[in-house]
Order: sequence, then structure tokens, then C-alpha cells
Amino acid sequence: MRIRILTIALASLFLSQMLAASGRAQGKSSKYTIVIHGGAGTIPETIPDSVKDAYLGSLKKALTIGRNVLAKGGTSLEAVEDVIRYFETDPKFNAGAVAGVEHIAHPITLAKLVMEKTRHILLAYQGADDFGKQMGLKWVPNSYFDTPQRKTELEEYMNKIKRHDHGTVGCVCLDEYGNLAAGTSTGGLTGKLPGRIGDSPCIGDGTYANNQTCAVSGTGIGEQYVRYAVGFNINALMA
Ligand code: ASP
Repeated sequence: MRIRILTIALASLFLSQMLAASGRAQGKSSKYTIVIHGGAGTIPETIPDSVKDAYLGSLKKALTIGRNVLAKGGTSLEAVEDVIRYFETDPKFNAGAVAGVEHIAHPITLAKLVMEKTRHILLAYQGADDFGKQMGLKWVPNSYFDTPQRKTELEEYMNKIKRHDHGTVGCVCLDEYGNLAAGTSTGGLTGKLPGRIGDSPCIGDGTYANNQTCAVSGTGIGEQYVRYAVGFNINALMA
């Protein structure tokens, strides 16, 4: 089982577009580190260089946003939120939910509020949307999340022309205070059954952070992450 877990994690690393940066925070002796990914298989080998460059440009911008927060003494939580908020507005990356959220423009901010303002870990479906509304977050019609590219992909998937399993973003950070944070945002697998919840919002599966060990943000087929509790297991191996 251990080999399988590592294979899943490594496959994700190879398929994803990952960027990392680290540095010494201004005037401080401690270091910060940030790693981001734009989902498994987001940039297939066959796509033209111009499209590849556009994706890499967005990833670099996201990395700069997070690095600037950390370099100014911001926390890893703030950096993860800002990076993923940026990704959530970029149609090149498909971002989705706390779990089953349909109307909140920035699910990552909703997830942070669930952590900070409630005694719960995960809110899903209408209850999550309603909580976001109550917290004053930007409310959008569900069509806000549609993009022509994702519609075509869904049609191709439904007609069994092509399988698309991508569209996730993630960020892990270590801030100058020694705190680790992880965030993952996704629209989920293309053509998933209504009601399906993947690994991204499940703490210990596709997203996990523990100051004593590591921060994990996964991408790929979520069921594998859930089946093997990948995030928690990587942490356990580190421990
Ligand atoms: N892990 C996501 C899910 O299963 C999909 C992805 O990373 O592309 O919902």
C-alpha cells in the first residue's frame, strides 16, 4: 500500500504544473516557502506553446501573489487564500467548492471562514452557500462558473470522445512564524455524479497541514486520495 500511495503522489507531481519559491523574509532570520500547482494534466504535451505559456504565466502570477504576502510578513493562511482566490477568478483553472457549493465566488474564503468562525470542519451544499451569504461573501449565479472550454470538455466526456480529469488548483505555504497551511480548490472530476464529493475538501485526503510535519495539496483522481487517506498518510510517514 505504501508504494501505491507514493505512486499516486508522485504521479500527481509529474502531471501537475508545479512552481515553488522560497526566501528570507525582510529583516527576519526565518524563511518562507510556497509551492503551488495547477491541477493534474492541466497542460498536456500536445497543446500549442502559446497556450502553455498562458498557463505558465498565470501560475507565475499566482506564485508572485503568494510570495509577496509571505515576504511582507503575512501568514501562510493569508498567502494560501490570496493565491487560490486569484486562481478561482482565472478561467484557465477550474475552481469549485467547499463541498458542493454552487453560488459562492471564492470557495477558499468560505473554507477559511468555516475554519475560523464555526466549530465545524466541512460544510456542504446549500448549508455552505447559505453560510457564505450570511458571512457577506460574493454571491454569484451558478452559470458564473461555466466556461466554453469546460462545456466542450463535458460534452466530449459525455459523448465518450475524450476523458478530462483536471482543473484543480492548490497551494502550500510555510510562513516566517513556522506555520504551514494548505489549500485546494476544484470543480471536481468532469462528468462526476451529482452529490459526489472528492478529495479536495476532505481534510486528511487531498488537503492536509500539520506544523510538525508537512502541508499537502493533492490533484488527480480524488477517490484514490480518499481511499488511502493520502494527505494524512504522507504526514504520518513524515512523523
Ligand atoms: N482531485 C480532484 C477531484 O477528484 C480532481 C483534480 O484534481 O483534477 O475532484
